[in-house]
Amino acid sequence: MNFDSHVSGTVHAAVALVNAVTPGLRGGRPAATPTGTALVEAVTAAVQVSTHQPLPPVSPASAERLAGWADRLRAVIEHVEAGAVDEACALLNAVLAESHAVPVLARHDGEPWHLHFHRPDAPEAESWAASLATGLAVVLGNEAVDRLGVCRAEACDRVYVDVSRNGTRRFCSTTCQNRVKAAAFRKRRTGSVRV
Ligand SMILES: [Zn+2]
Repeated sequence: MNFDSHVSGTVHAAVALVNAVTPGLRGGRPAATPTGTALVEAVTAAVQVSTHQPLPPVSPASAERLAGWADRLRAVIEHVEAGAVDEACALLNAVLAESHAVPVLARHDGEPWHLHFHRPDAPEAESWAASLATGLAVVLGNEAVDRLGVCRAEACDRVYVDVSRNGTRRFCSTTCQNRVKAAAFRKRRTGSVRV
């Protein structure tokens, strides 16, 4: 899998944001949306995945707004997991429109010209939402759309993007992969005792 490195970064950041702030289950335990400083830290760490530069913390208001966008991005990935790509694309188109995503070539801070996915003067939360949604849009408009998924392990709904060569990833983390392996092992052992 080789997307443009900036696009690839935004896809990973979208996954990181969804996993950091949407409520549900993480590796067998309940996952709640962080609040206050913890939310600011979680959102900042997630969006920083898209860049190799350290970023200043997002504002508390931006963190709240991005947690809202994250719920929508989760729904997009859940539709993909369910094979409902039409619904995923319709929902993501709505997110792109509402976050005013727009391609703009920019050059700043000594970097070469590169493509931004938001207006230079866009508010912080909106500009991140536009970038993360555009990253996901590149994946949804690609035959690699099934590289997005929701963890198949029991009691986990964290999401992932599979960048492995053979595309066989099914779990959000090695922790969940190992949980499933251990459960299968226990099941086999229990079965052999009965025989
Ligand atoms: Zn998992």
